[in-house]
Amino acid sequence: MPVYAISRGIYAIGGPELSFPLDAFSYIIKLNRKYLVVDTGTGLGFPNILSNILELKVDIKDISYVIITHCHVDHAGGTHLFYKVGLPIIMHEKDALAVRTGDPKRTASDILNLTFNPSPVTICVRSDTEISVNGKDITILHTPGHTPGSISVYLEVYDKKVIIIGDILDGLRREWLSNSNDWKKSINKVLELDFDIILAGHFYRRGRSKNLFYDALRRGPLWMN
Ligand SMILES: [Zn+2]
Ligand SMILES: [Zn+2]
Repeated sequence: MPVYAISRGIYAIGGPELSFPLDAFSYIIKLNRKYLVVDTGTGLGFPNILSNILELKVDIKDISYVIITHCHVDHAGGTHLFYKVGLPIIMHEKDALAVRTGDPKRTASDILNLTFNPSPVTICVRSDTEISVNGKDITILHTPGHTPGSISVYLEVYDKKVIIIGDILDGLRREWLSNSNDWKKSINKVLELDFDIILAGHFYRRGRSKNLFYDALRRGPLWMN
């Protein structure tokens, strides 16, 4: 299975061409000889994600945390599988219930015609939080709008400032409890940061490109129903 090397220490291990056609990107990031995984795909690509992790010669035991950007099935559907192999799952509490219950509307599994397998969540964050991975500090930011519990992750990897945003630039729906005001505030919150690399749920970008965020603000929130 292929792995995309995005930058030193940053790899895509899951995604439409890497694990399963409906999977959002899953990333693995190296931090002081430990690793952070962000998002899990639908779960249907889990064997491919695992073999991609092994291809990078990463021992599963060296993954400190799995962070789930939000409760949608293309990002969080494989959470139960990562939990089962013993990894701590971090999410925002406002999206955690949907993952714990597998609610088909909140997780968007009804739209994608998938079954959401519920999963325990190990650590629920309630506001902006710093966590440490083997002595390296990373910041979890609450960036709601797309969903109430959407989070972004801000960290430095080999001198590159990285922002991981999930789907914060994406569309809104009533069943997801999306919110236009929160959406705008969250994009502005991310714009206050400096970053060299954007890792989003459905694309990634190297180089400073705040334009994506300014364009989204100009266009306004995109309600899909
Ligand atoms: Zn989403
Ligand atoms: Zn998505």
